[in-house]
Amino acid sequence: MHEINNRPEPIVLPLLAMRGLVLFPKMVLHFEVGREKSIKALQDVMEKDRRIFLVTQKDVRVEDPDERALFHVGVVAEVKQIVKSGSGNNLRVLVEGLYRAKLRHLVDTEPYYTAETLEFPLREARPSELNTCDALMRTVKDLFEEYCSLSPKMPKDMVINALISEDPHYVAEYIAANIPLRIEEKQEILIATSPVKRLELLASYLESENDILSLEKDIYDRVKESIDKNQREYYLREQMRVIQEELGESDNPVDEAQQYFEKIDQLALPDEAREKLYKEADRLMKLPSNSHEGGVIRGYLDTCLELPWNKSTKDKIDLQKAEKLLDKEHYGLQRVKERILEVLATRALAPDIKGQIICLVGPPGVGKTSIARSIAKAMGRKYVRISLGGVRDESDIRGHRKTYIGAMPGRIINAIKLAGSNNPLMLLDEVDKMGNDFRDDPSSAMLEVLDSEQNFAFRDHYIEIPFDLSEVFFIATANDLSTIPAPLLDRMDVIELPSYTREEKFQIAKRHLLAKQMKKHGLTAKTFRLADDAIYGLIDFYTRESGVRKLEREIGALCRKADREIVGKGASRVVITGASLYDYLGPKRFRPDEPAERDEIGLVNGLAWTSVGGEMLQVEVAVMEGSGKVELTGSLGDVMKESAKAAISYIRSRAQEYGIDPNFYKNKDIHIHLPEGAVPKDGPSAGVTLTTALVSALTGTPVRRDVAMTGEITLRGRVLAIGGLREKTMAAYRAGIKTVLIPKENLPDLYEVDPVVKEAIRFIPADHVETVLQTALCPREEGKEIHAVLKKAPAKPEAVLAQ
Ligand code: ADP
Repeated sequence: MHEINNRPEPIVLPLLAMRGLVLFPKMVLHFEVGREKSIKALQDVMEKDRRIFLVTQKDVRVEDPDERALFHVGVVAEVKQIVKSGSGNNLRVLVEGLYRAKLRHLVDTEPYYTAETLEFPLREARPSELNTCDALMRTVKDLFEEYCSLSPKMPKDMVINALISEDPHYVAEYIAANIPLRIEEKQEILIATSPVKRLELLASYLESENDILSLEKDIYDRVKESIDKNQREYYLREQMRVIQEELGESDNPVDEAQQYFEKIDQLALPDEAREKLYKEADRLMKLPSNSHEGGVIRGYLDTCLELPWNKSTKDKIDLQKAEKLLDKEHYGLQRVKERILEVLATRALAPDIKGQIICLVGPPGVGKTSIARSIAKAMGRKYVRISLGGVRDESDIRGHRKTYIGAMPGRIINAIKLAGSNNPLMLLDEVDKMGNDFRDDPSSAMLEVLDSEQNFAFRDHYIEIPFDLSEVFFIATANDLSTIPAPLLDRMDVIELPSYTREEKFQIAKRHLLAKQMKKHGLTAKTFRLADDAIYGLIDFYTRESGVRKLEREIGALCRKADREIVGKGASRVVITGASLYDYLGPKRFRPDEPAERDEIGLVNGLAWTSVGGEMLQVEVAVMEGSGKVELTGSLGDVMKESAKAAISYIRSRAQEYGIDPNFYKNKDIHIHLPEGAVPKDGPSAGVTLTTALVSALTGTPVRRDVAMTGEITLRGRVLAIGGLREKTMAAYRAGIKTVLIPKENLPDLYEVDPVVKEAIRFIPADHVETVLQTALCPREEGKEIHAVLKKAPAKPEAVLAQ
C-alpha cells in the first residue's frame, strides 16, 4: 500500500490514456487496450517496476491525444497482469490504483507517452467539517443502498463493502467506481480533495441516479402490467371462443336464431305456440349478441324448448301387477290399496274421461308420498313432486312474467320440465298447507291446474304459451281436510290413510324400513341385527307418532351407530336388542299414556283429533268458593270455550236433578284446564268430557279412570256425532283405556276402527249425556245419597258389540 508522502517529488512515468474509464486509487480495473503506444508502454513497465500513470482522455474519439486532450488528474497504478486478448494484438490488462497524481506535463510521446507526475494527496476532514462529513456519509450510504435495491443486478457484497467502511474517501471512491456515472462526473470526484466535497458530489449524483432508476422501474412495472393484462384477456377470450365452438354456439346472432328456428320446427307445436317462439327468435336475431335482453330471450327460448311438448310415456295398467307392486312396497293399507286399484281400473277402461283427483289424507309418515310413488311405478309414469306447503303467491304456481328480473316459470311448469314427459304423475304435497292471504290466492291458480275443463290450456306467466296439463295424473296429499279450500276439495276424491297401530308399525319396520335403512347404510344381515324387542322399544319409548317417519329415522340412527362400531371399532357384527337401546339412544323419550292411578274427582279422559293423529287429553275441573267466575286455561280454541259455556248452562238447567246447588254459578268459581302439551285444541267434541268433569267436580263424585269419551252436546244434553273416530280410539287404545263412550250416531263408523282396538275396548254408544254420566261416574261412597239419575245401571256394552 502506498503511503502518503507529505512533500511529494515529481516522478516521470509511462502514461496510458484511457477511453471512457476512470480508475480510482485502491480500486482494481480490468480493461482492454489496442493502441500501439499503450501496448508498448505496458510491455515496457511489465519489465520494470510495473508502475504506470493512468489518465482519462476527455474525448473517447481522439486516437492520438495531446496534453490538452487529457484530464490533468489521474492515478498511478500497478499493472497486475497482462494477457493477450483474442482479437488482433489487443491486451487485457488488470491494474490496481495506487495513488492520485497530477499530470504536470508530457515528457515524451514516442514510442509511448511519458509524463512528469506529482502525487496529489487527499485531505482529511477538518474538525469543523466532521459533523457534516458524518451526515453526508450516512446520506450517501442510504442513497447507495436505495440504488442497489433499485438495480437488482448489484451484488450484495458490494453493498456491504461500502456500508461497513468509515473512511469517507474510500466510500466516495468505491461507490463512484462501481456505479455507471458519466466520465466527467467520475473525474470530478477524483479531482476533489476534501472528503466533504467528494461526498456532496456523490450524493447529488446518486440522487439523480436513483430518480432515474425508480422512474425506469415504474415504467417497467406499468408496461409489464399492461402486457400481463393483455395476455390474460387474450388467453381468456381464446378460451371462450374455443368453448363456444365446442358447444356449437357462435357469436353470430343470425346463426344462433337460425338454430332456434330449426329446434322450434322440430317440436311440431300448435300454431300459436310456434308463432310466438318464432317471434322471439326473430327478436334475438336483431339484438347484439351480448345484450341483456338477448340473454333473457335466450333463457326463455331454452326453457320453452326444453318442455316435453310432445313427449309422453305410455301407460301400462296391469291391475294384477299393480296390486303386487303395491303389496310389495306397502304393508297393510288394504282399503287404500283397494281404492287405488279401483281408480286405476277406471282409468284403464275410460282413459279419456278425466275424473276426480285423488287426495290422500292422513297424519304425517303414514305413507302418502310413498304410495303415490308406487302408483306412478305401477302405471309406468314419471313421478314428480311439488311441495305446496307455505306457497303464498299465485306466481309460485304460475310463474313471473319474463319482464321481471330473474323471472322463472312456476312450480307446475318446472315440475313438467323435470319430469320430461307431459303426462307424469304429479304429487301435490300438502295442499292443506297452501297459504292464502288477502293479496294473493294460489288456490285459484291450483283450481285451474286441476280443473279438467281448463287445464288443457294452462297458461304460465313466464311461458305465455298454453301448455296442456290434461294428461297429468294429479295426486294431492293433506294432513287435514278442513283447511283445504272448499272449491279444491270439491274436485278431489278423498282417500284416508289412518294412523298405524303398534303392531302395524312393527310389521312395517320389520318388513320395509329396516331393510331400506340397512341398505342405505351399507349393512347386511351378516353385520347387523335389530331384534324384535328393540323395534317394539323404539315404537313405545322413542317415538310417538301416527305414522312411521320418526321410527324410520330412529332405525337410521341405529344403523349409523352400527356403521361407526364396525368401521371405527372393528366390530364384525352389531346386534341391538331392546335392552341395549339405552346404550345407543339414551334414556327413553316417552312413557306410555296411562290412565290416572286413582279415580279422581273432576278429572276426565277426553279424546281429541289433531292433524297429526289422535290424542288422549285429560280435562281437569276445580270448583272453589267464589263469585261465579269461570276460568279456562291450557291452549284452548274458541269452539272449546263455547262448549264449556254450553256445558255449564246444561248443568244449571239440571242442577237439582244432580243434587247440585242451583246457585253454583253465582257462589262458586270454576276453573277448567287442559294440561296436555301446548298443541292448541279446538273443536266441539269435548262437550261430553267437559260436562262430565263439571258434574264430577260439583257433586264430588269421582270419575272412572279407565273410561274415555268423545262427543258434542246440545243445551238439552243430546250427544251429537263427531269425526276422527278411528284416530281417537287408537289413542285410547294406546293409553290403556278399557271403555270408550261414543255418540250413538257414530256407531256405523266403528266399522273403520282397527280390529285390534275393537278387541281391547268396550264401546258404549250414548245419545244423551246421562248415559255418559252413568257410565263414567263412580257410585258414591257408602252412606252418602246416590242421586236417582246417576244411580241407574250403566248401559250394557254387549249390545254395542253385537252391532
Ligand atoms: P307421508 O307422505 O304420509 O308423510 P311418507 O310416504 O313420507 O309419509 O312415509 C314415510 C316413510 O314410511 C317412507 O319411507 C315410507 O316408505 C314408509 N312407510 C309408510 N307407510 C308404509 C307402509 N304401509 N309400508 C311400508 N312403508 C311405509
